Amino acid sequence: MAKSTKATPKKAAAKAVKPSKPTVYNNYINGQWVASASGKTFENRNPADTRDVVGVFQDSNAEDVDAAVAAARAAYPEWRLVPAPKRADYVLRVAEILTRRKEEISADMTREMGKMLKETRGDTQEAIDMAHFVAGEGRRLYGHTTTSELKNKFAMSVRDSVGVCGLITPWNFPIAIPSWKILPAILSGNTVVIKPAEDTPLSVVNFVKAFEEAGLPAGVVNMVTGFGATAGSPLVTHPTVRVVSFTGSTQTGRAISTQAAAEGKRCSLEMGGKNCIIVMEDADLDLAVDGALWGAFGTSGQRCTASSRLIVHKKVVKKFTALLVERAKTLKVGPGLDEKNEVGPVINEKQMLKILNYIEIGKTKDKAKLLCGGERLTEGDHKHGWFIAPTIFGDVSPNATIAQEEIFGPVTAIITANDFENAIDIANNVGYGLSASIYTADVNRAFTAMRDLQTGICYVNAPTIGAEVHLPFGGTKGTGNGHREGGIESFDIFTEWKSLYIDYSGKLQKAQIDE
Ligand code: NAD
Repeated sequence: MAKSTKATPKKAAAKAVKPSKPTVYNNYINGQWVASASGKTFENRNPADTRDVVGVFQDSNAEDVDAAVAAARAAYPEWRLVPAPKRADYVLRVAEILTRRKEEISADMTREMGKMLKETRGDTQEAIDMAHFVAGEGRRLYGHTTTSELKNKFAMSVRDSVGVCGLITPWNFPIAIPSWKILPAILSGNTVVIKPAEDTPLSVVNFVKAFEEAGLPAGVVNMVTGFGATAGSPLVTHPTVRVVSFTGSTQTGRAISTQAAAEGKRCSLEMGGKNCIIVMEDADLDLAVDGALWGAFGTSGQRCTASSRLIVHKKVVKKFTALLVERAKTLKVGPGLDEKNEVGPVINEKQMLKILNYIEIGKTKDKAKLLCGGERLTEGDHKHGWFIAPTIFGDVSPNATIAQEEIFGPVTAIITANDFENAIDIANNVGYGLSASIYTADVNRAFTAMRDLQTGICYVNAPTIGAEVHLPFGGTKGTGNGHREGGIESFDIFTEWKSLYIDYSGKLQKAQIDE
């Protein structure tokens, strides 16, 4: 939970239960840790126990963004000329540092964001995997060599760096998502300024420290912490920033995209989702229940790929529902640092209230059947945090609000399908297009679903979550604007194509004109 305050670290410490004096973290600009020109800071509190102040961070403004962008701009001319395999060496060193510090970084992440320790370890591992993948590109970054229509002329295309990239990230994958952006951007020869989510700045501080320890030249990676309107927006509109890469809500992404378009900037957007698992009558129901539990309630449902709709064939919906509800009721909800727990808190009070409001809509306006959960948990371990019981609605209409809008919490909706075609129609009947999955034993249906589901990612006999870094990640419709992160495709965001023609004929040759 992040709350803007003018409080000095001393005042912040007075409110905290532990530690007695929270650490103050600065921005990272031109290789230096510096305080914000605003003189303001904000507290970051543990969502599992809001008495715990994780740290005090800089509440940055346009002046800080200017300084960070100036540092990135100054570092760019030299960095772009460092050979890509040498840039990759820095990236590999970052991977080694993250591997060595994985436990500590993951524990910090759980403390500031809430998800289970095993999940934050996965988040850190994703950044390590990304570093390995991206570093390999240091010796590839392939372009094309091709033919020429003229004699004694050679033609090829290469990837070129773009310049200063502005990166804006959400809180649900505090290191993984920054890694998807920073690593391909700098490997390509760009320099960057990142503005992390206000709820998870510590994870990005930890990530940036790995670049510092790796000896990355000053100014190549810069970080300003703070809020969207005061620190994010100046980064998007800064005239020196040539690429904006954003992950977050569809509402914010669309606003950013409009601002970037006005200045002719490239803008990649990764936004919301309303993902589904289809369960056919021939599916292995135990496997499907395992998948639905992990897909719907992992990270307390706060994944852009969360399985928030379960579209189940009418012949098995009763059995599937009974099995799922029985298992969901046994899930242990509590602080993520306690490894016996399975579902952590939601990120902050505002998000908790938003989720509870959707639950209310499900019960009243949508007239769906509340099968379990549906409430805030406030006793014992839950007393000082933002906990919501895993919630399942049954008999949900495909057009219900809870079946259409992204809830981003531990809530899932069971929708009954008459047959396979009806299931695919329901799956596609939403404004988002990130991830979908089908559980079936029928290979023909599996391939038909892969062909017809209108999402950027499809799974067969696995839930809607579990992307791997070397494949493109992103979605259609309201989820994105045609770009993909992950995989070699992420380099399309951070490079420009340059076509090169070398004429070794010694005379003027005219394309399209000479016979
Ligand atoms: P958010 O849009 O509120 O914030 C995301 C980031 O944008 C934060 O850093 C925030 O400070 C910044 N921001 C907010 N307003 C801004 C502005 N006017 N100008 C510049 N920056 C601004 O989203 P969130 O609540 O942090 O994250 C949850 C959302 O992210 C969900 O909708 C989820 O689906 C989505 N998400 C998508 C993906 C994906 O890859 N498709 C991955 C993770 C999360």
